[in-house]
Amino acid sequence: MNLNTELSADLDRLKGAHLHRRLRRTESPPGPWAVVDSRRVLVLGSNNYLGLATHPLVREAAREATETWGTGASGSRLTSGNLDLHEALERDLADFKHTEAALLFGSGYAANVGTIPALAGPGDLILSDKLNHASLIDGVRLSRAEFRIYDHNDADHVRELLHDRDRFRRCLIVTDGVFSMDGDLAPLPELQTIAAEHGAWLYVDDAHGAGVLGGSGGGSLEYFGMQPGNTIQMGTLSKALGSEGGYIAGSRVLIDYLRNSARSFIFTTAPSPAPVAAARAALRLLRAEPERREQLSLNSGHLRALLSQRGVVTADSVTPIIPVLIGSSQRALAVSESLENAGVWAPAIRPPTVPEGAARLRVSVMATHTVEDLERAADAIAEAMG
Ligand code: PMP
Repeated sequence: MNLNTELSADLDRLKGAHLHRRLRRTESPPGPWAVVDSRRVLVLGSNNYLGLATHPLVREAAREATETWGTGASGSRLTSGNLDLHEALERDLADFKHTEAALLFGSGYAANVGTIPALAGPGDLILSDKLNHASLIDGVRLSRAEFRIYDHNDADHVRELLHDRDRFRRCLIVTDGVFSMDGDLAPLPELQTIAAEHGAWLYVDDAHGAGVLGGSGGGSLEYFGMQPGNTIQMGTLSKALGSEGGYIAGSRVLIDYLRNSARSFIFTTAPSPAPVAAARAALRLLRAEPERREQLSLNSGHLRALLSQRGVVTADSVTPIIPVLIGSSQRALAVSESLENAGVWAPAIRPPTVPEGAARLRVSVMATHTVEDLERAADAIAEAMG
C-alpha cells in the first residue's frame, strides 16, 4: 500500500468515529461576533477573554514595535536575537506574577514542553492530573521521568502516589490552574502544601487563569491568596493578553537555570517584536482597566444563570469557560452544527482533547459580549440541546 492510501484509510477511520477535524476560516478580527466561513456568527469559542486582541492601544504597540525593531528578531535569545524589548516584557511578567523573574518562550506549548524536561528526567518523579492540557502531557512524556497520573483534582490520590517519594531525586506535581476544557480550578493551596511536605515542586499551567482571576488579574495563585514559594507558574500571552508567546515565572535561579537548559527556549528564534510589544501593552491595560475583568466575571455568571434557567446543566465555576457536557462525539457535532445554523459558534470538543464519552461544547465568554449576546447564546444552546 502506498503512504497516501494508508493515510486515507486512517482519515476514513477518524471520519467514521466522528473525530475528523476540519479548519473553520475566520474572515474578520477575533471579536464577540465574527465572519466564519462567510457567515456572521456570535463567537462562544474564543480565548480573547478581555477583548484585548483588537484593542486600539495593543494594535498600536504592535505597529510601533514593527516600525522600531522590524518584523523578526533574527536570532535565538542566546545568540543575536535578545532584544531590549524581550527583557522588558520579562520584567513586566515577573511583576505581574509577583515573582523575582520570568522567561519568555515562543508559545505556551513551547514553555511546557521545554520546561518540564529541563526540570525532571530519569530518576525523577512527576505526578500529573488526569485532565492536564496536552502540552503538559507532552512535556511529561519528553522528560523521561517516571510519571503517575492522579485522579482529577484528587489531593488524597496525590498523597497516596507519593508513598515512595524517597526513591526519587526530584519530584514535580504538575497541574493546570484552570482546566481548559472544564473551567474548574485545581486545589492549589492543598497541592502546594503537599509539595512542601514532600520536598517537591508544584508546576501550575495558568494559561486560562492569568489576566482573568485574582484581584489584579495575576491568576490562580493570586485568586487563592498564595505566595509562589515552591510553585513554578507557567502562562501564555495568547489568551487574556490577546497576543502570542508563553512564559515561566519563578525565582531568579530557576529562570537562569531554564535559560541554560530548556531546549524550546535555546534552539529557536526569539519572539518577534510585534507580539512582545502587544503583550506589554495588554499588561498595562490589565492594570489600568480592572473593569474589563469585572465585566468578564459578570458575563460568565450571567451566561451560567441563563443556561441554568433554560434547563442546560453546566458546572459551577468562577471562570469564563463553561462546558456543556453532551457525551458522544456524534451528538456533540450535531449540536454544534445546529448552533452554527442558528448563527452561534460554540466548538464541539471531542476525544482525544477530552476523555472518551465526554464530548462537549466548550463555551467561553468574553468581556465584550453584551447582555443581548448572552441571551441569544443561551436561547440557541437550549434550543440545540433539545
Ligand atoms: N496550556 C493550556 C492549559 C492551554 O489551554 C493552552 C492553549 N490551548 C496551552 C497551554 C498552549 O498555549 P499556546 O496556545 O500559547 O501555545
